[in-house]
Amino acid sequence: MTRCGAGVLLTCYLQWSPSPSTMAAELLFRNDAYLKTARAQVTAVHERGIELDRTIFYPAGGGQVGDVGVLVRGNGERIAVADTRKGDGFDSVVHVADPGMPQLPIGESVGLAIDWDRRYALMRLHTALHVMSCVVVAPVTGGNISPDKARLDFDIDMSLLDAAKIERETNALIARAVDTETVWITDEELDARPELVKTMSVQPPRGAGRVRLLKIPGIDLQPCGGTHVRNIAEIGAIRVLKIRSEGKRNKRVEIALAT
Ligand SMILES: [Zn+2]
Repeated sequence: MTRCGAGVLLTCYLQWSPSPSTMAAELLFRNDAYLKTARAQVTAVHERGIELDRTIFYPAGGGQVGDVGVLVRGNGERIAVADTRKGDGFDSVVHVADPGMPQLPIGESVGLAIDWDRRYALMRLHTALHVMSCVVVAPVTGGNISPDKARLDFDIDMSLLDAAKIERETNALIARAVDTETVWITDEELDARPELVKTMSVQPPRGAGRVRLLKIPGIDLQPCGGTHVRNIAEIGAIRVLKIRSEGKRNKRVEIALAT
């Protein structure tokens, strides 16, 4: 098993501090990142946006942007969701409606649909960063995933970063076409395996009792709460867009999907 570096920062965690003021949503994307539609009930409406009892919208976190899409009312009216953010409470998610959209009453049942093409690109790039973090073996100091490109920052000497080599080796791992797996471990189990956490600035949340890991058999095993593809072959291939220094401990490798 190769131990590698991306992990926590890529993704990660919804806020873990409980708050009585907002309700936890059932995070449907956590068990099935491929859900494109669902139904839910409105549980709260406030200045930040709309909360639902369950959602397929991934809230911005760990460097991955929030989902966009629509909520569809019973009368067919469509509420455009321009962004998704973490709420104040444990597992609460705020759907940020476009300005000028009608107010939804609490308790209303709505249909949910995410912009699937955009999300799928994010899933492919996110999973690609996991793979790339096994090629560049260095502490991860930052990361970001948008629909058209993604990057990781490493604490590494610039002379050790070779774009052609990173691209070639990452694509060779992707070609193994292995299924990804979600594994849950307890806080205690993670404590016993500190080597799993290699990001310098982010530690997995404590107090939730368990931590979610992404396993790419034979390649990567890292704490991660994000959305991934089922098989790394779905990434296709990546290309390195640029490598540049963003500071003493931040050497940035930016990638895009090649196909
Ligand atoms: Zn991940």
